[in-house]
Amino acid sequence: MPVGTQATVKAVTPGELAEVGARIVLANTYHLYLRPGAEVVERAGGLHEFMQWHGPILTDSGGFQVFSLSARRKITEDGVRFRSHLDGSEHLFTPESVTRVQERLGADIIMAFDECAPYPAEKEYVREAMERTHAWAERCLSAHTRQDQALFGIVQGGVWPDLRRQSARFLGSLDFPGYGIGGLSVGEEKGQMAEALEAAISELPENRPRYLMGVGAPEDVLDSIVAGVDMFDCVLPTRNARNGGLFTPAGRLNIRNGSFREDLLPVQSDCDCYTCRNFTRAYLHHLFRAEELLAYTLATVHNLRFLIALVERARGAVLRGELSDFRERFLEGYSPTDPEARAMNRRRRRAAVWD
Ligand SMILES: [Zn+2]
Repeated sequence: MPVGTQATVKAVTPGELAEVGARIVLANTYHLYLRPGAEVVERAGGLHEFMQWHGPILTDSGGFQVFSLSARRKITEDGVRFRSHLDGSEHLFTPESVTRVQERLGADIIMAFDECAPYPAEKEYVREAMERTHAWAERCLSAHTRQDQALFGIVQGGVWPDLRRQSARFLGSLDFPGYGIGGLSVGEEKGQMAEALEAAISELPENRPRYLMGVGAPEDVLDSIVAGVDMFDCVLPTRNARNGGLFTPAGRLNIRNGSFREDLLPVQSDCDCYTCRNFTRAYLHHLFRAEELLAYTLATVHNLRFLIALVERARGAVLRGELSDFRERFLEGYSPTDPEARAMNRRRRRAAVWD
């Protein structure tokens, strides 16, 4: 799911999104609640009308954003009191109020209000946050009235497999139509994430979609599909694109690099996106160096297409029963960004939740 935090996927139109093969986009409750306000979106006819995206939309609950306002928020059993990052005004999010806001925004899939514990954190704190998340999930279920929206629960539990299993078992018993797995890819090691993910998935109902929140590096997406994940969202493809970082089957290239100044090849020769069908690396390099706005659009179109095409091919491989071969073949040619750069990206991503 491309991320459209402020009811827009940065630098691309809804028509361009449809053209790269996007089926569903994500918007953010915290941001839209503060600006322009749920009542404005509701009066405009809901998010689909407001942003002119007529495919499915998912709103996250805003939990991740309010909890990352560490100096500006206070957690109680009832909810979270916080100050707006825009004007310092004080607000209270409770499971009931967040559910109500999401009903007014009108997405097709809405998320339960959860507490995403920071990483690293003591196990006892992570357990408390998980228990609060469970109590809040039940409250979201009772507050939810719109039958045309699916409300997903969110599994928490940090990097501890026993907590992840416990969380998945509890939420599974509440019979949500789908499940988010939150609080991963926040700076932990790859192995820790894999273990926590496996533990959660082992206890989630098999016939409900599983949504791994905030994951979008191509190699992580493939590994997680192998582990049993169905849905992803991440700002990585769009944010990287705006910084000149372009995905290719060989790894990420930085188009600002001087070596592309005279490179007349497309970004990726076998990519079917608008950018690769029409433009050269030299042209994109030039647009970035000249700080032309079209650079952001062309780069975003390519990165979104790259990930969506990867998932389309993975889906085909699942249907043919060839997923692990597909994963191996992809990873053979692909060099992921080195672990240190990945960890730095994640820290930056955590600091910059305002994307
Ligand atoms: Zn392309």
